[in-house]
Amino acid sequence: MNYDIIIVGAGPAGLSFACSLANRGLRMVIIEKQAQQSFSEPLFDGRDIALTHQSVRILKELGVWARFSPENISLIREAKVLDGQSPYSLDFDTRGESIEALGYLVSNHNIRQALYDEARQIEELDIIADTAVTSVSTGKNGASVVLSDGQELSATLVVAADSRFSETRRMLGIPASMHDFARICIVCRMEHDLANNGIAYECFHYGRTLAVLPLGENQSSIVITAPMSERDLIMGMPEDEFNHDVQTRFEHRYGEMRLITERFAYPLVGVHARKFIATRFALIGDAAVGMHPVTAHGFNLGLSGQDILAKEVIKAVNRDADIGNTALLERFESAHMRATLPIYHGTNKIVKLFTDDRRPVRLLRQITVRLANNFPLIKHMIQNKLTESRNRRF
Ligand SMILES: Cc1cc2nc3c(=O)[nH]c(=O)nc-3n(C[C@H](O)[C@H](O)[C@H](O)COP(=O)(O)OP(=O)(O)OC[C@H]3O[C@@H](n4cnc5c(N)ncnc54)[C@H](O)[C@@H]3O)c2cc1C
Repeated sequence: MNYDIIIVGAGPAGLSFACSLANRGLRMVIIEKQAQQSFSEPLFDGRDIALTHQSVRILKELGVWARFSPENISLIREAKVLDGQSPYSLDFDTRGESIEALGYLVSNHNIRQALYDEARQIEELDIIADTAVTSVSTGKNGASVVLSDGQELSATLVVAADSRFSETRRMLGIPASMHDFARICIVCRMEHDLANNGIAYECFHYGRTLAVLPLGENQSSIVITAPMSERDLIMGMPEDEFNHDVQTRFEHRYGEMRLITERFAYPLVGVHARKFIATRFALIGDAAVGMHPVTAHGFNLGLSGQDILAKEVIKAVNRDADIGNTALLERFESAHMRATLPIYHGTNKIVKLFTDDRRPVRLLRQITVRLANNFPLIKHMIQNKLTESRNRRF
């Protein structure tokens, strides 16, 4: 079977890349190792994804944003960062900005469903489920992959979107720096008596961090990060005890809080591939950069990365040029490296600073929060980086 593009992985990055290239006359195939139902009818997985303004613009261009029903989009109007038990907070809001919100929260399963529904409208796209890519070879004149059922497919370009532990990246010999935070991230939804007023809280308590993100008026997405050794304790805690624990750690800001979903646990490992390309090959999504969720940038970077690559491919199609040529891939790599390296390393530094509870570091945390709050330029820079609210495209 001959394609223009083979995409490995039907996660949000792989699906959005296919959507970006719809109606360009390109024959594409997505290979996904999980069963069809896992991506055609994705289930709630505890993740509520904070989307930047740039991501919303891309999702609108893809026709995906219009697929979300309004009640599934929550606005983050304000954000507060708290350190330790101090009531002092670093505050972000939309005052003086021409934006209605700092960012938007949409559940990961709603994003995946909308991307799949959009992708399945693409006539030139095949999706092969329940089948893994087991080997890849690429050369000057073309690329090919072998599937777990023995089929061999060839293409002009192979794009891997097969998660932060990308096997395809390994097969191509692309090294990646990995950082195991030795921490666990536990996510769920809770309802509460008092309204959240669209405020997102990031509480860097000692030992644990707790993020409480607004969903509608009286629900929140809860993100707990804790040492890996506390995983079983938090996951296995009886519901009443868990409710009380979160409510107390959140200092009763929303009155009584009640768990309304399952709890989901994700080990925290950050990954940055040293290269994003090889001959006729590119990495997108978490396969290129897998982020710690504290700055909520994983999918946002995945979306902007696939957008850069897709725009380069479209330029080549319009010029009738080779869509796997090295110069095109290098332009993608250089733009995506510039965008991801500072935010990847910056995020890891924030995690280090706010999870190190030694006394001098606690002091440094307090100084950092106050400095950021009192210097409008610094605060503005942080806000713009986190929300991508300025009309910046690569
Ligand atoms: C708790 C948590 C909270 C988060 N919050 C945010 C947030 O607020 N904002 C944000 O932007 N991001 C956030 N993220 C990150 C975001 O969820 C990820 O960046 C995004 O889901 C990655 O999508 P992906 O398509 O690159 O990879 P994945 O979703 O991992 O998909 C990869 C796909 O490839 C398939 N695959 C793997 N190997 C093969 C193979 N050999 N052959 C075929 N298929 C294969 C897999 O089955 C899978 O379907 C969060 C993540 C977590 C864990």
